[in-house]
Amino acid sequence: MIKNIQEWHYPESVESALALMKKNRVIPYAGGTSFHRGGTISAVGMISLRKIGLSFIEETGGKTMIGACARFGEIGEYDFGDGRNMLKAAASFSASNSLRNMITIGGSLASLPSWSNIPTPLLALNAEISLAGTNAIVVGIEDFLDGKLLDGTTLITGIILPKAPGIGIYTRYARTTFDYSIADVAVYARVVGGRLKDVRIAVGNVFPKAKRFHEIEEKLNSVAFDPGKVATIVDSMKFPPSTNPTFSKEFRINLVKTMVKRAFEQIGEQAHEN
Ligand SMILES: Cc1cc2nc3c(=O)[nH]c(=O)nc-3n(C[C@H](O)[C@H](O)[C@H](O)COP(=O)(O)OP(=O)(O)OC[C@H]3O[C@@H](n4cnc5c(N)ncnc54)[C@H](O)[C@@H]3O)c2cc1C
Repeated sequence: MIKNIQEWHYPESVESALALMKKNRVIPYAGGTSFHRGGTISAVGMISLRKIGLSFIEETGGKTMIGACARFGEIGEYDFGDGRNMLKAAASFSASNSLRNMITIGGSLASLPSWSNIPTPLLALNAEISLAGTNAIVVGIEDFLDGKLLDGTTLITGIILPKAPGIGIYTRYARTTFDYSIADVAVYARVVGGRLKDVRIAVGNVFPKAKRFHEIEEKLNSVAFDPGKVATIVDSMKFPPSTNPTFSKEFRINLVKTMVKRAFEQIGEQAHEN
């Protein structure tokens, strides 16, 4: 619940927003959807990020730059033209239509609820996150998720996606389409001469933060693309899921492995078609 707000600010540049963030208990908001969840916030002032010029998706130097205030609705309708469409899928499968018109990619990365569907495809796409303010830096998504770079005086300004010429498959599992997902999986790979290359596997929603499975990726890289062999390697994934009130750990482990195997099956089918 938002109580006791005495100031609302509508800056028109990133610099103005950052200057306002130096004020005590004055915080930014983008889609504002994280404030619907209950609990109270102690802020006395709110800074709208709507007018600071970060609601864009553009192609520059062979990469896609997504402004932090781009909404799921816009990202879900954008054709990235290659494996980056995993992010399009994640944004368009999330939440409801009306929420997708509010939720922003920057707000999602800043608040990072465990059910977010954004970190998982960004991990599999080797995305970079651009920050401005005290911790101004361009940082890889894994380091961003591991670090504590958002200190109250730093803003996410954009997400950079390098080209992804391989095949990307994104899936999420939820009881109903509107429900929070209890697992999401993003698998990216190229198939060259019948062998897997550049394999990237990311899993989210089963841990506090999404993560990559580098050891499994290494085992899969360069193996002949045989479904049985791939399934055996995927079965060796080891991870302790966090507790969920409805689904057992065993169910979620099995679910994730099944989702990853199915993603490889789809990669095989698409590689065959090409
Ligand atoms: C009913 C419901 C269902 C949902 N379902 C899903 C779902 O299925 N999948 C999914 O991925 N998400 C889902 N969401 C969205 C998710 O839970 C968060 O509410 C959302 O990701 C927050 O994004 P926002 O743009 O609204 O951020 P805000 O609520 O505006 O901000 C969130 C936090 O980030 C900070 N912040 C915002 N922008 C920036 C920035 N650029 N730089 C630094 N800090 C910033 C704010 O100060 C605040 O602390 C759902 C939300 C609701 C309400």
